[in-house]
Amino acid sequence: MMGGTSGLSDLDEMYEAIILDHYRSPRNSAPLDDPDVDLEVNNPFCGDEFHIQLKVSQGSVSQVGINGRGCAISQASASLLAELVEGKSYADVKAAVDSVRRLLKGEEVTEEEQDILGDIEALGGVRKFPVRIKCALLSWVGLDDALTDHLN
Ligand code: ZN
Repeated sequence: MMGGTSGLSDLDEMYEAIILDHYRSPRNSAPLDDPDVDLEVNNPFCGDEFHIQLKVSQGSVSQVGINGRGCAISQASASLLAELVEGKSYADVKAAVDSVRRLLKGEEVTEEEQDILGDIEALGGVRKFPVRIKCALLSWVGLDDALTDHLN
C-alpha cells in the first residue's frame, strides 16, 4: 500500500502538487442543465464514481460538467479532463484521450502532444502504481465512449 494521507507520497513533488490542486479544487464540476451527453462511469475496484456531462455544438465540446467522488487520482484526472476538453473539437478530444492512454501505458508521447496535455502529464506519474491506472483512465475512457455513442 502507498503511504501518506493522499496516497501520493511517492509521486514526483511537482506532479503531486498538480494532482492535489485539481483534487481539492475540481474544474468544471457544476452540473449542466440539459446536457447533450450524460453518463456515469465507475471503477468498482476503488469506488470511484463520476457523472460526466457535455454540451456539444458544431463538432466541439462547448461545455463540460464532471462531478463525483473517488480517490485523489481519479478526481484529479477528471478535473484535468474537464479543463482540457472544454472548447475542443471532437477530433482534438479523441486525440487527447489517445495521448493520455499512451502516457499511462508508458508508451511514447510526442513533444507536440505533451504541449497539448500540459499539466495532464502529471498523471504519467501514476504509472508507478499500476493499480491506480484504472483510476486515472476512468473519466477519459468514459468520455471517449460517450463521444463515440453521440457521434453514432
Ligand atoms: Zn481510484
